[in-house]
Amino acid sequence: MAHFSNGPDLVEYEDANMETHVPLVSSYNDHIRPLLDAVDKLRHLKIMNEGIQLPTIVVVGDQSSGKSSVLESLAGINLPRGQGICTRVPLVMRLQHRPTPTPEVFLEFNGKKVYTNEARAADAISLATDEIAGDGKGISNTPLTLVVKKKGIPDLTMIDLPGITRVPVHGQPEDIYEQIAGIITEYIRPEESIILNVLSATVDFPTCESIRMSRQVDKTGERTLAVVTKSDKAPEGLLEKVAADDLNIGLGYVCVKNRIGDESFEDARKEEAQLFKNHPLLSRIDKSMVGIPFLAQKLTQIQATIIAKCLPDIARSINEKLNASISELNKMPRTPSSPAEAMTAFIGIVGSAKESLRKILIRGEFDEYLNDHQMHCTARLVEMLNLYSYELHNCSESDPTRNFLVEEIRVLEESRGIKLPNFLPHGAFLSILQRKVDGISRMPIDFVEKIWAYIESVVLSVLRHHSENYHQLQLSTSGAAKNLISKMKEQSISWVTEIIQMEKMTDYTCSPDYMSEWSKLMNQQDTIFRLILTQGYSKVKIEGIGEVEAGHIKAYQNVLHQAFDLKMRMTAYWMIVLRRLVESMALHLQFSVQNLVNKEMEKEIISELMSNQGDVIGRMMEESPSIAAKREKLNKSIKLLGESKKVLGNIMDKIATYSD
Ligand code: GDP
Ligand code: MG
Repeated sequence: MAHFSNGPDLVEYEDANMETHVPLVSSYNDHIRPLLDAVDKLRHLKIMNEGIQLPTIVVVGDQSSGKSSVLESLAGINLPRGQGICTRVPLVMRLQHRPTPTPEVFLEFNGKKVYTNEARAADAISLATDEIAGDGKGISNTPLTLVVKKKGIPDLTMIDLPGITRVPVHGQPEDIYEQIAGIITEYIRPEESIILNVLSATVDFPTCESIRMSRQVDKTGERTLAVVTKSDKAPEGLLEKVAADDLNIGLGYVCVKNRIGDESFEDARKEEAQLFKNHPLLSRIDKSMVGIPFLAQKLTQIQATIIAKCLPDIARSINEKLNASISELNKMPRTPSSPAEAMTAFIGIVGSAKESLRKILIRGEFDEYLNDHQMHCTARLVEMLNLYSYELHNCSESDPTRNFLVEEIRVLEESRGIKLPNFLPHGAFLSILQRKVDGISRMPIDFVEKIWAYIESVVLSVLRHHSENYHQLQLSTSGAAKNLISKMKEQSISWVTEIIQMEKMTDYTCSPDYMSEWSKLMNQQDTIFRLILTQGYSKVKIEGIGEVEAGHIKAYQNVLHQAFDLKMRMTAYWMIVLRRLVESMALHLQFSVQNLVNKEMEKEIISELMSNQGDVIGRMMEESPSIAAKREKLNKSIKLLGESKKVLGNIMDKIATYSD
């Protein structure tokens, strides 16, 4: 714990005269009180439900260790006491000093406020406990708040928890220990909790279950304070027990003697003061470690420190959570309330989606998707087109060095007939062309499929983005887009299949490149043949083709010239075919994308909408139960956090002073 600022003056026992209202702590409370009030208000608002922990003094102890007695002593009011388990629900005790002589006592639970008085408080608590946890011996985690406003009591808020018991008594559930341990752990785990560990002087501290539990969540003990009760019953060795501190009790020990039986609180305090003053053993315990008044003072100091320490963080997390909830609510799908509103939303969404698509798919403007490379469509499309071209040019079909003249020779031999031999048969050329085109025919089709898959992902993502606030619309526009794109993909595939068929059927080009390339290749014929046939080279380099293995061709001298010619025609023509496949694909692609974005998409979405108009527009106005529940939850959170923010808003300047 941080060091404590100057606290209230300890009320000396000597001053504790017979007067009824001797304050346990002085008016120092006035400073911290607004902060404590704010924390109490936040607790009342149930800010814990938003995951925000409040600074809290949590009272734990084994059964009959004297928890209730300590709280009674602090509050100056009777609590249910007795054998077995009395505290069966978390009891939030809000003690407030107030100057008027008549005390005010009331309970708050289950949204109710029940007034009672000092004499009847214990019964009222028992009744309320029965109402919350049933009148058996079971326990519940629903808290009960007891507010005591009385002259002279400390401004303290503490939570009393069910005492820890190992063995279920008759009528208690078997897992009573686990239930109680669960509740206690939930309260003492948060760093913001101060653990007030009540120990009976009559027992061996290390064997206490409550010590074991608090050490689990507060290993260093920096937020654990021990109150030793029943000092009167076991004074022997008490000094040694509390001086030894082998339990990691960072906040120290306070030894007390509570009221016994029907003693009045005033008498009890006098008794206690006498005991620690006169008892031969107990009087040796340091005065800063004994007595209920000192405990009250110490608790108010600790409370002031922890509140001052926690409130700025609480204010911050309330703000953060409030902003997060508001922005989440704003992001939630909206539900139009009339067909006109739904239609307007629909038109707006289609329009803006269309504009986005135009930008990324056609104009190459990607300001809406700066960091999403997948959505920089014009660049991605040309990349894919380049890759397609590269693959066409580098596939085995396009490698002119492969099996030099083998196919040409075979085809020529097969097209021999009873006719003059020096006419180059056109059919031979076409049959080689057909086989080659067949060899690459999958590639354009694969490319078209890849392109449409990409376009589909882009279009769906844009539509989803623009219609994210309208779930139904999102479904129907996505559906329409998928339909349309699958139709357009089919069209592309049949178009490309036709292109391939056409390439197989006719060899034609008007490009002069064909003739010039062919002549360049043919010019090398004499040299090549001389090298192979006369000089016996088995490998030759042909300009425009590359190095080829040619040893095997010697055996076919009768068709060699025609085969060479055929090969060179095909080599020159194949470049033309590939270029055509790439260029026409590029134009087709561009044409399809424009068509899709500028015409077809809107048409398809509208016709999908019109086909069951009442439906989509109607459904746009319905909200799914899960969305409705989420919205309600967010609205509730926002209300709660907003109120909490207001609570803190009034005291922020004070928080600043205290956390310095
Ligand atoms: P709880 O179960 O922890 O709430 O314990 P209680 O407060 O009900 O106390 C259990 C018993 O111990 C009661 O009979 C109390 O009167 C008694 N007791 C509590 N504190 C003291 C004390 O300081 N001295 C003596 N002699 N008895 C005490
Ligand atoms: Mg009790």
